[in-house]
Amino acid sequence: MNPFKEVVPIIQKIEAAGYEAYIVGGSVRDYLLRRPIHDIDIATSAFPHEIKSIFPNTVDVGIEHGTVLVIEKGISYEITTFRTESEYEGYRRPEKVTFVRSLLEDLKRRDFTMNAMAMDISGSIIDPFNGKHDLQQRVIKTVGSPHERFQEDALRMIRAVRFVSQLGFVLAEETQSALKQHAPLLSYISIERISSEIEKLFNGQRKEDSLSLLIKSTINEYLPGLKNRKHIIESMLVYDLSPLNARQMWILLLHFVEGDKRAFMQEWKQPNKKIKYVIKALPFLECRLKKDWTPFQVYNAGESMASDVEAVARIILGLALDQYEAQISASFNSLPIQSVKDLAVTGDDFMNWEDKPGGPWIKEKLERVERAVVEEKIVNDKDSIRRWLYSCNHR
Ligand code: ATP
Ligand code: MG
Repeated sequence: MNPFKEVVPIIQKIEAAGYEAYIVGGSVRDYLLRRPIHDIDIATSAFPHEIKSIFPNTVDVGIEHGTVLVIEKGISYEITTFRTESEYEGYRRPEKVTFVRSLLEDLKRRDFTMNAMAMDISGSIIDPFNGKHDLQQRVIKTVGSPHERFQEDALRMIRAVRFVSQLGFVLAEETQSALKQHAPLLSYISIERISSEIEKLFNGQRKEDSLSLLIKSTINEYLPGLKNRKHIIESMLVYDLSPLNARQMWILLLHFVEGDKRAFMQEWKQPNKKIKYVIKALPFLECRLKKDWTPFQVYNAGESMASDVEAVARIILGLALDQYEAQISASFNSLPIQSVKDLAVTGDDFMNWEDKPGGPWIKEKLERVERAVVEEKIVNDKDSIRRWLYSCNHR
């Protein structure tokens, strides 16, 4: 099936108004590679206000960069005006862009030849930089001189490395040698932009190739917490990382970070929720590396964290990863309770039984009961719990 079917009427409307519009960038690349397409980028010669006059329902999501969100039949499409980015400053992409009417100009400012193709609705590919050829050769090559392109926007270096992991391609020779030369420019790039590329690298299939490239090109020297710390990456390279997802990669990475692990993740500007998750997961990993899960550990970690930890542990221990999710899931589901809410008693029961007002003692008692139930020392019913709590042995 044509994955671009839904955008055909959108492009036709733009064309009917007298402008050009094409599918561009990653979606054309992924289509030619027969990879799943996650977002379809449309580029047009129409300026943002012109797009807004063609479609009744639009949102200005990034109008200063030329992007208008068009909503048709409840589905939204990002439509971006052809643009150039002539005035690069501080080794970053400029805040200001110039809108142009020429597709060629727009394709020229794109990073790699494989990302600099356009496709019209008849399926013809416009490929001024031989991107298709490079796709066939599985080569990542900058549009024009890598030296110039990396100096314009140093993030492109990290993008090059993440595409290695994502696509399993290699870098063209000149592109690769330029990495090492310009790696220091990465210190000008915001950590947020770098992090989002690393996340994609961590989700790719060929993580080892990318990580070795980070070391070989000395890029690690300009990444948070990894200056003079290439051994952290080297420790990960010992393993087959392909089965791990990004969440699991963060757990593995942090396992090898010495010192303040929370500060390391903060330096990477990771969201608090993720920091908490990884920091909570790490002690479970240390235990799992020594011996198998206890029911109470599975209970405390929760099913998805236990599953992530198990994947990482198996990589480190050299165990096969088949069935790990099913096994963790079975352990979790066979626990007497899955959360404190499943307990047959509540704090109110304690207050009744002891005729005492609430306080921190309730939490402490609940925890004790929770553990005893999970460890099957008592059955999860009110009577058993009461007897267990107030028998002379367990006061
Ligand atoms: P993904 O499949 O991960 O989304 P992508 O190639 O679509 O990969 P995006 O970040 O979505 O990557 O960018 C869309 C397109 O914009 C790219 O294909 C490329 O043509 C262009 N592009 C993105 N970032 C840059 C950059 N830093 N310099 C030049 N062109 C870029
Ligand atoms: Mg994209």
